Order: sequence, then structure tokens, then C-alpha cells
Amino acid sequence: MKAMVVKEWGSPSILEVVSDPKPGPGEAVLKVRSAGVGLTLLNMRNGSFGGSAPRIMGHELGGDIVELGAGVTSLAIGQRCAVYFYLNCGRCRWCSGGRETLCENFGGFVGVHRDGGFAEYVCLPVANFLPIPDELSYEAAAIATDAVNTNWHCMRERAKINPHDRVLLIGAGGGVGIHGVQVAKLFGAYVIAADVSDEKLALAKQWGADEVINVKKHPNVVEVVKQMTHGKGVNAAVDYVGHGSTFQIAYDSLATSGRAVIVGVGKGDISINPRNLMLTEKVVTGSRHSTRTELIETMEVMARGLIQPVVGMTVPFPEIETIFDAIKDETLLGRGSLSYE
Ligand SMILES: [Zn+2]
Repeated sequence: MKAMVVKEWGSPSILEVVSDPKPGPGEAVLKVRSAGVGLTLLNMRNGSFGGSAPRIMGHELGGDIVELGAGVTSLAIGQRCAVYFYLNCGRCRWCSGGRETLCENFGGFVGVHRDGGFAEYVCLPVANFLPIPDELSYEAAAIATDAVNTNWHCMRERAKINPHDRVLLIGAGGGVGIHGVQVAKLFGAYVIAADVSDEKLALAKQWGADEVINVKKHPNVVEVVKQMTHGKGVNAAVDYVGHGSTFQIAYDSLATSGRAVIVGVGKGDISINPRNLMLTEKVVTGSRHSTRTELIETMEVMARGLIQPVVGMTVPFPEIETIFDAIKDETLLGRGSLSYE
């Protein structure tokens, strides 16, 4: 099959012909029909998620099951499936208790610790394949599996968004953030979107943001947020960028009892005054991807048209590097998408 192979972390992916994957017991093979592309992949390609190369990356995937390994009865040939990103054990206390992304026997990520779907076929454990609703396209299902379900988990379980909340989204015009705008609106919040360009903020407005902040034009984001919220601050702030500097803005923008949630993976630390934390009962927490149940819920909600995939660029999968270039230049609006023959 044709595959985009990263020979070593830090180098671009190149088109090669490799042998087709063969499913072992409990595994299945998916013919890939669509893949999503975002910033996380660039971090993976730089080696910051661990794993080993040579590697076929790609975890945001939709396609058709074409081959089953021994003993597989839960999937059928021809079934349309999306791919779940995490390689979890399915047995530990966290997997059993509905918090599987905290798996204590975590086996890594699809496309980092075993080959992913920037190839014609991908072979994975059956637990990593979830059926796509009939009404949902392969592309929408692919984007559901990281760019949307991450927000579903974040807004409901970690930021605990309610209709009376005002929410700040930092990096709202990015591939995950733009779907976060939609999910936060779906949960009824008043959304303040912050990002680095007017183009990204126009997109955030288009998808429901109530107010926007261009952080390059208004570097004192906290002050602007306070002005927008009658001096009180926001009830929740979600940081998709994940640097110490951006998460500090998230924390400092909170109202009493506000929740600061980190989603992005960046660099640096923040400073918190313990007395202020005690007096205000603010919450500082992380949000890690989603469970498989949350991915199923995400696809069901998307199948009803309540959240739309926002795709800024689509290219054939061997041209993935052009999307990476757009992400590096901060010109990609929304998610990148790969097409397959
Ligand atoms: Zn587990």
C-alpha cells in the first residue's frame, strides 16, 4: 500500500510503498476514506509524544472495515468506522470507571506508538473502531475523533459549562478551538474567543463566538476580558495553546469559582497565589481527550447537525506536508483534511 512514512522524528513524512497490514487476533483493518490534520501531529512528528520511528502517523480517521482478525465478532466487513485515538487497556480502574484516558496501562497513541492512517489501510485493535452514524460523512467522523470529542469532554466534564456561564477560549480559531466554540455554544455559554489573527477571529464569530479578542492588538487579554464581563471575569477559560503564558491568562481571567482548563500542550509554568485560590474556590484542571462513549455521543450530535466540521484545507493524503506548512504559518483556518482515492 501507499503510506506517508516519517523516517525519524523531526523529519517530514515521505511517500513510500509498504506491505499491507495483516490483522492479528482481536484486530481489524480499515480502508481509510478521510483523515483530519491538526497541530498535535506536528508535535508528534517532532517526537514530543514519545513513540518510535519509522512511523506512519494519522489518528483522526474515518473509513470502511475491510478485514477482520481471528476471533473478531464485534465488527463486520464493510462497516463504516471512526478511529479512537488512545491505546487503552480496557481493564484498569480508570478504563472501568469511565475515565479511560487516564488508563494506568496506557499503550500510547495511534500514529505514534503504532502505525496510523496516513496510508491506504490501518490495522488496530477492535476497541479502537467505533461505528459511524449513517448521516455522518467520513470527513465529519474523522474530525469528530479529536477536534470535536476533545471539546465534548472538556466542556461537559472539566469546564462544566452551563447556559449562565461566560467562557474564554484561548486559541479559538485553531482546529480544536473552532469546534470548541460550537460545543460551548451548544452547552449555552456566552463565548469570548481569543486568537492571533483577525481571520481566525472572523471564523470564530462565524461559528458562534459572541465577542473576540485579537491578542496581538490587545496583549493585555485579562484586562479586556474583565471589561467584557463587568469586571468579574469568566466562569471558565479553556486554553488550547497550552503555554505557561497563555494558561496564566486563562487563570487570571477567572471570576470567583471559575474553572481554568488546559487542553493544549505547550511549554512553561504559571504562578498561582494559594490564598487567592482558597478565597475564590477557583479550579485549575486539565482535560484529556475523550472516552469512547464521549466520541460516540459526539458523532451522534454531529449526525443531527448540531456541530459542523470546520475544514480550511483539503489535499490528497500524500500532500499532507502542505497542511503542516499552513499550520506552521498560522494560516490554516479550522482543521486540515486529507482525501483518499
Ligand atoms: Zn486501562
